[in-house]
Amino acid sequence: MAKKLFIPGPVDVRQEVLDAFATPMIGHRTKDISVLQERISDNLRKLFYTENTILLSSSSGTGLMEGAVRSFTAKRAVVFSVGAFGNRWAQLAETNGIPVDKVEVEWGNPTLPAVVDEYLATGKYDVFCVTHNETSTGIMNPVEAISEVRKKYPDVLWLVDAVSSMGGVKIDVDKLGIDVCITSTQKCLGLPPGMSMASVTEEAIEKAKGIKNRGFYFDYVTLHKFVKTKPYQYPTTPSIPHMFALDMQLKYILEEEGQEARYARHAAMAKTTQNWALNNGFELLAGEGYRSNTVTTVKNTRDIDVAALVKEAGAEGYLMSNGYGSLKGKTFRIAHMADRKPEVLQEYLDMLTSKL
Ligand code: PLP
Repeated sequence: MAKKLFIPGPVDVRQEVLDAFATPMIGHRTKDISVLQERISDNLRKLFYTENTILLSSSSGTGLMEGAVRSFTAKRAVVFSVGAFGNRWAQLAETNGIPVDKVEVEWGNPTLPAVVDEYLATGKYDVFCVTHNETSTGIMNPVEAISEVRKKYPDVLWLVDAVSSMGGVKIDVDKLGIDVCITSTQKCLGLPPGMSMASVTEEAIEKAKGIKNRGFYFDYVTLHKFVKTKPYQYPTTPSIPHMFALDMQLKYILEEEGQEARYARHAAMAKTTQNWALNNGFELLAGEGYRSNTVTTVKNTRDIDVAALVKEAGAEGYLMSNGYGSLKGKTFRIAHMADRKPEVLQEYLDMLTSKL
């Protein structure tokens, strides 16, 4: 039996979006696909609040993260890590032979603008990577304040992992000055996993053209070329079913629910979850001001048996999330993202309360 997914992605997907996956195929070198990809790009630009070019990738978000460090680092990258996915950025650079420094905080803490300033001031870096919303710790980083610092270093490209927040939280890419902003389908966008997308500036693409060994599949210059010259096509055969579903879901987000209403629903669900945790004698891993609107990491201060609770939740028809990696047992996570209805979140919280 399918369980209700309270893990931070993949998420429950609306039936009409699932049905869109069964749309008959069209060719990937046709006018129809260009029209489809153009419409998706236009709508993603609204979602990202950007005029930049939108690239699609028939992979999960990690593919575009790997492509980004590879395509844009000429000198040295610095990764500001606040958890498992920040560490992944660094790993992606290392395993591709790209010079990188990782600045990792103790899990539960954010990336502070002063630290970004300190590292960028060394002049050692031409790329810096930030996780907007760290899914392992439930930290949402202060990107507005980081963006202020970044103004001092306009030549250092800013790559942002917005995998678990874009579509659930307003990220004004152009106002913040983000050069490359990446997200995946299976989190706040409310689609199945298997596609990801990034916004990219023309300046970043121009720079990438001078960088060797960018690889092939995730090369931003190639992806960009196919959008600009074909136009709106994909270098290889894309996941066309994802494109049908994404097209439908973007219209739903922008025109039916509305962006502001969607952000407000996420913020309200985050508050409900945080209050539930505090009212039940737990603490939150993230400090005030840095708490995610899409996933809450609850500190297991009551020393409950988290694995047993996961099992009990499973028997009730819910997939619950233990803590990530070293935080397993010490924390557990509650996702409140995508098209989750607040009343279903409340049912889930009530179920958890009854098991404590
Ligand atoms: N970054 C964050 C913050 C994530 O939560 C995830 C996935 O959970 C990733 C990156 C990796 O994305 P994907 O699984 O789409 O490759």
